[in-house]
Amino acid sequence: MRSILVPAATARALTHPTRGKFIVPKGATLELIPVISPAPLPENGKRFHIWTIGCQMNEADSSRVAAMLHEAGYRATESEADADIVVLNSCVVRQAAEDKVAGKLNSLMREKRARPDMSLVLTGCMVTNQQEKLKERFPHVDLFFDPSDFESLKHFVPELSEMEDDLAQLPHYYLEDAADGAVSAYVPIIYGCNFLCSYCIVPYRRGKETSRPFDDIVKEVRGLVERGVRDVTLLGQTVNAYGHDLPEKPDLADLLRAVGAIDGLDRLRFLTSHPKYMSDRILEAMAEVPAICEHLNLPVQAGDNEVLRRMRRTYTTDLWLDRLAKARELMPGITVATDIIVGFPGETDEQFQHTLDVLEAADCDKVHVAMYSPRPGTLSARWEDDVPPEVKHARHSAVEELQVRLCTARNAARIGQQMEVLIDSKNKGRWGGRSRGNTLVHVADERHLLGSIVDVRITESSPWYLIGEVVGLPR
Ligand code: SAM
Ligand code: SF4
Repeated sequence: MRSILVPAATARALTHPTRGKFIVPKGATLELIPVISPAPLPENGKRFHIWTIGCQMNEADSSRVAAMLHEAGYRATESEADADIVVLNSCVVRQAAEDKVAGKLNSLMREKRARPDMSLVLTGCMVTNQQEKLKERFPHVDLFFDPSDFESLKHFVPELSEMEDDLAQLPHYYLEDAADGAVSAYVPIIYGCNFLCSYCIVPYRRGKETSRPFDDIVKEVRGLVERGVRDVTLLGQTVNAYGHDLPEKPDLADLLRAVGAIDGLDRLRFLTSHPKYMSDRILEAMAEVPAICEHLNLPVQAGDNEVLRRMRRTYTTDLWLDRLAKARELMPGITVATDIIVGFPGETDEQFQHTLDVLEAADCDKVHVAMYSPRPGTLSARWEDDVPPEVKHARHSAVEELQVRLCTARNAARIGQQMEVLIDSKNKGRWGGRSRGNTLVHVADERHLLGSIVDVRITESSPWYLIGEVVGLPR
């Protein structure tokens, strides 16, 4: 029997359900070349469970913790009752998220009493600069560690300290997912934020902008692609501020071009962008690099200039609309997502109406809408939270109703169109995935499609997703 050494991406192509059997030479076996990873420790029978709330940065951090524990010999479990180590990754952007974390910690107190050997670890934005207070409030937690301070885990998980020399080489990605056909990965490229939006706690918890070295990111993505990843999202709280703090001052456009040129990477995205840094250079790179998806995530937060000024957003609605217009000029058909906060202190009915007007004019594909939540320590928390809860709820519903109306019409117009979909889930017998424009698409198909890219002809629509049928072969 012959053995052929191949990178994982090639192995995935060769063993593909519809194409692979025609390509693998008879009598040969495929052996995967380990690309980045140090030698993992053998399975030690211990289990970990990770619970994550919040943004994609948190998901990326959780994925990194999972990768570390996996390499240290631990295996994932769906249930915290089976876990030797439970990691909670927290968020404090809104009070509701913080309350959920506190609820989870309290519910785990009983589990910890019943199984004192279980290790409970808390990380994420709730932890930064708060460890002493948290120790008093949640004495049953064994370890608190700052987000991205992965070295702390080493002092707590003995198997990780055995791997001391190799930890830095670990990818920010959990490899078992790739084996399951989950071929998307988040790659953080810049940490922290230099803006001081008056409502936002992130700069206080994540610190100043710190970009990762350009070559490290390119090398990491290349390694991920060699392991089978085909869809990468570059992450940062202000992702398009990338590079401003590096000596050679590369920008996101340079990075997008370098990462987008990696052979085998099918899809590249980035989030979240700040309107002030949405330069023509970045939009041109998006338009010119084939792997970059035609999708832009550009939060506006409010459609009224006086509210934007008090939010300390440093731009006007005209600038935001101008950036969307430029993106649409360069990439007709590009989809756009945005974030809105309703009920900011002092927001009048008239100012809120301006938000609805601007959203109608912008015709976004997706609006993430949140009710204002005062965050202790921020500037706006010193101002009266004077928009009553029922008014916040009504404004929240009004934004959602506008979105349903706009998306119903837009998605209905997509019936009969063909779009490329990367399949990433299966639910109630139907495969689910995202188009390049990030629209959710469902298909019924007998073949195993997880991790495949398929062309789908759209047959039905709803405001939130599309349904269609696969055309041609999965790839
Ligand atoms: N950096 C991105 C930007 O500039 O738009 C967003 C990052 S922020 C952590 C994610 C979203 O949470 C924001 O877009 C905003 O809509 C929401 N958010 C942040 N602080 C909030 C608050 N105090 N109340 C309600 N929503 C908030
Ligand atoms: Fe928060 Fe503003 Fe920074 Fe976004 S840009 S993370 S909203 S401070």
